[in-house]
Amino acid sequence: MKTKQSIGVNALVEHLLRSGDLEHEFIGSHHAHDGIRAHQKIQKLRPDNYLPEVSISHMIETESMELIISGRIDGLFSDTEGVTIEEIKTTTRPLDQIISTENPLHWGQLKTYGYLCAIENDLEHIGTRLTYYQIETGEVRELRQTFSMATLKRFFQDLVNRYLKWAEAISKLNRTRDESILCLEFPFKTYRSGQRRMAEGVYRAIKNNRQLIIQAATGIGKTIGVIFPATKAMVDGFTEKIFYLTARSTGKAAAETALGALRKKGLKIKSITLTAKDKICFRPQSACSGNECEYAKGFYDRLGSGLEEIFQQDDFTRGAVERNAMKYRLCPFEYSLELALWTDCIICDYNYAFDPRVSLKRFFQVQTNRYTFMIDEAHNLVERSRAMYSSEIRKQALLDTRRLLRHDLPTVYKDMTRVNSWLIKARKNVRPPEMSLWKKKLRMTFTPC
Ligand code: SF4
Repeated sequence: MKTKQSIGVNALVEHLLRSGDLEHEFIGSHHAHDGIRAHQKIQKLRPDNYLPEVSISHMIETESMELIISGRIDGLFSDTEGVTIEEIKTTTRPLDQIISTENPLHWGQLKTYGYLCAIENDLEHIGTRLTYYQIETGEVRELRQTFSMATLKRFFQDLVNRYLKWAEAISKLNRTRDESILCLEFPFKTYRSGQRRMAEGVYRAIKNNRQLIIQAATGIGKTIGVIFPATKAMVDGFTEKIFYLTARSTGKAAAETALGALRKKGLKIKSITLTAKDKICFRPQSACSGNECEYAKGFYDRLGSGLEEIFQQDDFTRGAVERNAMKYRLCPFEYSLELALWTDCIICDYNYAFDPRVSLKRFFQVQTNRYTFMIDEAHNLVERSRAMYSSEIRKQALLDTRRLLRHDLPTVYKDMTRVNSWLIKARKNVRPPEMSLWKKKLRMTFTPC
């Protein structure tokens, strides 16, 4: 039977064409709020026949594999000159520093989308437009190129051929994983009371693409009771990746222990525990750029070797990630995110799945129902979600920062003054906190007569 793999266009292109330093000056459309807003702003300015966010997908079949490549084109329109697709990039860099041949990654994405669009619509040529939006000034710069189908085909085939070598290696690992799961037995002699029913429920929920809420007493072995059936669902093709989401370090440890117990029984599965950036960073005082941090400089030039070595093992714990990152001089946080792309089970905080600012955009930019989310202590999610979608400005911190910037960054100073004026106005409209009302009521009730 052929193995199936799927990958997003951006992940495919990034995997093969990235080089040099880590850079954060470009903001993707499916990630940060600013990026989303800028995309929508540009898309609204386009003519009526402009189609935003066009999903596209293509399957490559080899002797042993079916590889599905999919993604979303930022915009597509046709006019007398033919079909044109657009890729929008939001940047913090001054636009005059952006030249047309500069970014092979952005052009690689456009060419890949161009090829997929051309085969789907039987086109001989396709126009492409790479639009840069400067986030601070609102300036826009558009770069255009038209490609023939023959050029795009050559580009795409070369890309895919290179990727297939890596995909075959991953496939081999997946086969080893699947064989190990097929023979895998529950790691303890007997199930505890209720544990078997819970495990069966988890398997059925994953199989039927349903949600399941489990409320069970402490100590019945919930973690192993959910991870074990999820591995079985994986080998049966009902899920591709398991996210074990927890807000507690003890929750992470419990998931690692459960996987450890299954590994002792023969399970061969790649798992990673993600650690927050501020905790795992090697240079907490530096900015994440090649100019300031040696682990960001040339990151992509060494990433391939760093990935190859760690793939000899299965359990990418924080210690293993740090050791390898240090050896290859890789930023440990970004390295762990790269590794997560190729692992079967990701143990991490809720943020990585639900927080729009830090979510793993590489996974969630393409809609899929092939991921399983196991949410530890899910009742905490309500409070955490409120925090994720709320913002807070502290006036004193704003004023302190503004004072420091007065001479060096007068434009930012002025902007912060505007924010401060807004805060002063807003304060007048704020009602006293509910707590004070409640206290007043209490006082009224209990005042001795
Ligand atoms: S090591 Fe720290 S400073 Fe350097 S790139 Fe990584 S997170 Fe940023």
